[in-house]
Order: sequence, then C-alpha cells, then structure tokens
Amino acid sequence: MEKNLEKSNDPATAKDSLVGKDINAYCKKCTSNQEHIIVTTKGDKATRVKCHECGDEHPYKSPQNLDGLAVDFSGTHTELEWEKLMNAHKDAPIKSYAMKGKYTLGDKLGHPTFGDGIVSKHIYPNKIEVIFKDAVKILIYSGNS
Ligand SMILES: [Zn+2]
Repeated sequence: MEKNLEKSNDPATAKDSLVGKDINAYCKKCTSNQEHIIVTTKGDKATRVKCHECGDEHPYKSPQNLDGLAVDFSGTHTELEWEKLMNAHKDAPIKSYAMKGKYTLGDKLGHPTFGDGIVSKHIYPNKIEVIFKDAVKILIYSGNS
C-alpha cells in the first residue's frame, strides 16, 4: 500500500517534500555548479531554483561537467596554463616587476614573491592580470601612458 505514494498526484505532497530544500544545480550567472534552494517543483523534480551564491532565480539545470571551460583558474589548471604560456613565450626576456614598469599582453614578468609569470590581461587603466605558476594575480603598475 505504501507503494501507491509514488504514483500519488497530490500536488501538495510533492510540493511540501522538495520546495525550500537545497539542490546542487548549474547557475548561469555564476557559470558554475552551486547549491540552490528549490522554488517550484513538478512532481518530484525541481523546476525553478534560487542560487545561494548570487541569489538569481532560474529554471533548474542539472550540474554541469565544467572541465574545459576556462573559468576555473584554481589548482593544477593554473599550472598547466602557466606552463603553456611560458612555453609559448619562451624566447621573451623576463622583465622584473616594478610599479613604474610598462607591460603588455604576453610579457614575461619576474615577481619577488610569486616568481615568473605571464601578463594575461590588461585591466584599464593601470592593472594587469598575471598568471603565475600557483595563482593568478592582479598587479598594479603606473600605466602605459
Ligand atoms: Zn548563482
């Protein structure tokens, strides 16, 4: 007799069981998998969810395998990226980092704390994003003007 519960069409039962509960889902805004609160359900499935991280409410999307998407610079990924870039620019001289320096994309940069890195992004007007072996850092300099 308990098995009949599964086929029950009583929406109240289904609703009470899931709404407000946490579920791991893909968030487009965060471009990553996040814990979400279930907002609405259909049967025993979540249909709308709200992201814990950014608060965005959106249709439920199952967690994604994010390998290969260039959004995560943590851990071994940074080291791979760094190796690739260092290789690609292996003939470029290493400039030592200084506030007064002038840097452009692809410049190799030696930092007293972080070691050798590659300038991967120029952030207007006076910051650069540098990929070091262990981490991606934003450094300030006096600008290219
Ligand atoms: Zn989010």
